[in-house]
Amino acid sequence: MEIASENIRKQFPVLNQEVYGKPYVYLDNAATTQKPLSVINSITEFYKNYNSNVHRGVHYLSQKSTELFENTRDRVQKFINAPGREEIIFTRGTTESINLVAHSFSYAFLNPGDEILITAMEHHSNMVPWRMVAEQKDVTVRFVPFLKSGELDLDAYREMLSEKTRIVALGHVSNALGTIHPVKEMIDAAHQKDIPVLVDGAQAVPHMQVDVQDLDCDFYCFSAHKMYGPTGVGVLYGKKEWMEKLPPYQGGGEMIDSVTLDEITYNEVPYKFEAGTPNVADIVAFGEAVRFLENVGFETLAGHEKFLLESCEEKLNQIPDIRMYGQAARKSGVVSFLVGDIHPYDMGTLIDKMGIAVRTGYHCAQPVMEFYKIPGTLRASVGIYNTMEDIDRLVEAVKKAKQMLS
Ligand code: PMP
Repeated sequence: MEIASENIRKQFPVLNQEVYGKPYVYLDNAATTQKPLSVINSITEFYKNYNSNVHRGVHYLSQKSTELFENTRDRVQKFINAPGREEIIFTRGTTESINLVAHSFSYAFLNPGDEILITAMEHHSNMVPWRMVAEQKDVTVRFVPFLKSGELDLDAYREMLSEKTRIVALGHVSNALGTIHPVKEMIDAAHQKDIPVLVDGAQAVPHMQVDVQDLDCDFYCFSAHKMYGPTGVGVLYGKKEWMEKLPPYQGGGEMIDSVTLDEITYNEVPYKFEAGTPNVADIVAFGEAVRFLENVGFETLAGHEKFLLESCEEKLNQIPDIRMYGQAARKSGVVSFLVGDIHPYDMGTLIDKMGIAVRTGYHCAQPVMEFYKIPGTLRASVGIYNTMEDIDRLVEAVKKAKQMLS
C-alpha cells in the first residue's frame, strides 16, 4: 500500500519545485534516484569538517576521514550480508565494478576457445565489457535468449552452461523490462559446473533486500546513485577467494604493498583494487543513503512500490492502443510501454512539458528493443517518494499526449 509520502517527500528538496509551471513528477528513478537531505548534508559536512585524504596520514583529520570512509564499508557489508568487510570494494559505479571483474578475470583466467555466458537482456554495462575482453582474448560471448514475456529461457540457460564456460554474468533485475530473474537458481546451476557468477544488481539493490551469502554469487555489483546515494560511487562485492586470485585492475597509490625499482608487491584486498584517492566525501555520504534505506525498511518500500506499479499498469492499460513490454510474473521498479505508433521520444517530450519526467529510448539495452522490433519505450520507474497522485498525473498526461499526437 501507499505509505505516508509527505514525511518522506520533504526530505527530498529537488521534488519540491515546479517545472514548466507544474508541480514536478519524477518517474525516472531507474536512471537515478533523488537524494535525501541526510545524504546532501553529509557531503557538505564532510568538506566543512573532515576533508582529508584517507589511509595516508597520522594527523587528526586523515584519521577521522579514514574512519568515516571505512564506516561505510562496514555498513555496506551488513546491508548485503557479505561475510567479510574486505569483500566490499569501492568503485565509481556498477559499470566500473563490472569492467574491473571482466578485465582482471580475463587477464588471469581466459584463453582462446573459452566461453563467457551472459543474457541477451543485459544492460550495455554488463554486455560491452565482456565483449571487449572476448575480442582481446579470442573468446566467445554467448547470450541466453529470453521469451516475449521478458523472462529468460531457463532451459536454454542450462543447456548453454558448457565445459567451455568460464564465467556467467547476469542482471538481477532488468532495467528495460523490470523482470526479476531467478538468480539464485541460476547461480546454483552454474556452480554445479564450477562456473563463477557475477550479478549486476544495479536495479535490484534499491528495491529489495539482497543477501549475497544466500544468493552465493561470486561477484555482485551496484551503484549508490540508484539507491538515494551520490553519483560516482559503486560497490563490487567479490568473494575473498576470488579477489585474492584476481590481478589488480588499475595501478597507483594505495593498491601497493611495496614498490622498488626491481619489484612491486600488492596490498591486501580490498585495497589492491582501490588505486588512487577514492571519492571520499561521496562514499561517506553513501553510508547515509544505506542508513536511509534501512530506516525505511524493504518491506515498506517494496509494498509501496508494488502498489504504485500495479496501479500504474492497470490505469495505463485502460488507454486504447497501449502496449506493455515486460510481462514477467516477478517484476520490480519499472513500467515500459508504447502507445499506438507514437514514437517514445515524441510522447516523452510532450509529457515533459506537462511536468512529468520519464525515460524514453532503448535504456542502454538495444538488443532488447531489437528483439521486440521497436525503437525504444517510455519507461516510468518509481521510488520511495512517489505517490498515487504522480501515477494519476502520468496517466492523464499520456492520454492528453496521445490525443495531441494521433
Ligand atoms: N546495470 C543496470 C541493470 C543498470 O540499470 C545500470 C544503470 N542504468 C547499470 C548497470 C550501470 O550503472 P552505472 O551507470 O551507475 O554504472
